[in-house]
Parts: sequence; C-alpha cells; structure tokens
Amino acid sequence: MQDYDERFKNLAKDAPFEANPVIPTMLEGDAPLQFRCHRGVKCWNACCSNIDITLTPYDIVRLKNHLGLSSGEFLQKYTVPYEIDKDGTPGVKLRSVDGGSACQFMVEEGCSVYGDRPTACRYYPVALLSVRRSDEYVDRLSFAKVTEKTCFGHQEPDTQTIDEYRADQGAVEYDEKGRGWRQLILKKKSAGPAVGKPPMISKQLFFMASYDLDRFRAFVISESFNKTYDIPVAEMAELIADDEKLLAFGDRFLRQVLFNEQSITEKDGAYEARVERLKAKAEQIRAEFEANRDQIENEKYCAPPGQPGDCGCGD
Ligand code: SF4
Ligand code: SF4
Repeated sequence: MQDYDERFKNLAKDAPFEANPVIPTMLEGDAPLQFRCHRGVKCWNACCSNIDITLTPYDIVRLKNHLGLSSGEFLQKYTVPYEIDKDGTPGVKLRSVDGGSACQFMVEEGCSVYGDRPTACRYYPVALLSVRRSDEYVDRLSFAKVTEKTCFGHQEPDTQTIDEYRADQGAVEYDEKGRGWRQLILKKKSAGPAVGKPPMISKQLFFMASYDLDRFRAFVISESFNKTYDIPVAEMAELIADDEKLLAFGDRFLRQVLFNEQSITEKDGAYEARVERLKAKAEQIRAEFEANRDQIENEKYCAPPGQPGDCGCGD
C-alpha cells in the first residue's frame, strides 16, 4: 500500500488545478529558507499589488499610531471586516485601494509604513501556523513556506533559517505581543459547540477589545464599567496611557466575559446588579412583545394572494 505522501504526490501530479502556493508541510523554526527580497528583484512590489492580509490587534495599534489616527478612523479607512470562523467571530483585513487589489500603503519605493508593517507582511514568504494540541494549554508556532511563482525572491542565493528570517523581519516581537490574542482565538475554536453561537453583544465586545482600542479605552473609563469592575487607580492610569497595556487588559477582559476566567476583580454586588439589569431588560422585551403581540403575529403572514403585500410564498 502506498503511503499517504506517495498517494498525495500522484494525485497532485494529475490535478487539473494549480498547486496551492502554501506548501502543506509544517516546518520548525530551524528549517532552511532560501529567499531574499530587495529592490533589485524584478517582481518588486508584486506581492503588495494583490493583498489578502489579516490584521492582528497589535498590527492595528502599530499602524494607527504610525498614521496618527484613532483606532476607529484607522478601521474605517484601512480595513474591511470578515468572519474568522463559522460562529462569526469578527476579524479585519487590510483594505486595498479603491477599485483595485493593491495595498494602500504601497509606494514606488516599497512600503510606506515599513517600520510598522503588519505581521503577515513581515512573515511573507513564510506562513505562521499557530496550533494547540488537545493536551496542551499553550500554542506552538509552526511555519509553512509560501512559494508563489510571481515571487522571485526564492531564486536569490541567500539562505537562512526561518527563525533567523523572523528575527531579521522583527516578527518575533509581533509574535510575542500577539500571543495572548492568538491563544484566545485557538481557545475559542477548540471550545467549539460547548460554548455555542456567541450572542451579538459578545461579538461586539470582542471587536472593540481586539481592534477598536480607543473605543475600548472609553468603555474602560466609563461609569458603567467602573460600577462593575474594581481596577486599582495606578492600573487604570496605565490603561489610559498605554495602548499595549490596554490591549493585554482587553485580552483578560475577553477571557473573563467569554470563558469566565476570573482575573479582573468585580465590585461587591456587581454580579447581582447585572442579573437584575438582565431581568429588567427581559421583562421590558416581554412587555413590548405583549403590547404589540397582535401586530407582530400578523406580520408573520403575507397579504392574501394577489393583494398588496403578497410576496407569493402562500402563507
Ligand atoms: S503594509 Fe506594506 S508590506 Fe504590507 S502589503 Fe502593504 S505595502 Fe506591502
Ligand atoms: S514578490 Fe517576493 S521578492 Fe518580489 S517584492 Fe514581493 S516578497 Fe519581494
């Protein structure tokens, strides 16, 4: 019997489609990488002309500060939303130029935000695979090579290990700063159906604490937040002043809200007050439903066939 690799190779040989440029082999950091990108390559800027770049929360902090924008302004101008998983966990990608696929930061000389470019740009042509085994509580970093025909950097003679390349590109710092968030995503994925479909409010909190940091800061300062959570004054001062500290706090906050990992002290009576607020909200929704019951039930049905309001469904 042929082994898996042999059968895979034979299948790939006859396949009527182009091979995926991400070679499906998990590599460790000491694997060799023959590659160099520089202005002299004939494909200069080719990769930045056709982008599909997922942003991490730390990427957004670096870019918005580089550009002198608030997180809201940055998200509006430079990103598009997407869903990370089937539960609709929100993610953001870099938005290309209007009517094209090129990065908005691409200029003739290369990247106009080079010192603060996103993690994915630092890694290319390596893909970062963050995996967690079922018996482990931390993620492991593995890598895969991306060998696109349009990238001639692979034909350069320079060879280094993947770890050397990561260090050279400043990716190690980005990995460390993004670690908490990566683990949160992995935990969410591995929690699977036990956690169930998250309600809209938890997606909104996830988006705010992950990507819209300036809005999250306003939330942390707000009266309603401080009625619930007991944040020491010195810590609050750091959260107000320091984006990276606030990002790390957002990670703790999301773990507390989504997975009940208690690391932020709640004020006495805050839980009971929250239950009372939820009960009052549920009662209000029930009362509104009762008050409009006739109208809501009638809205479920279309007008008779041929009458205005008939959608043709037959109800
Ligand atoms: S951020 Fe810079 S490196 Fe990344 S795609 Fe845009 S121009 Fe290229
Ligand atoms: S396609 Fe490859 S070699 Fe060409 S500019 Fe991009 S990363 Fe460099």
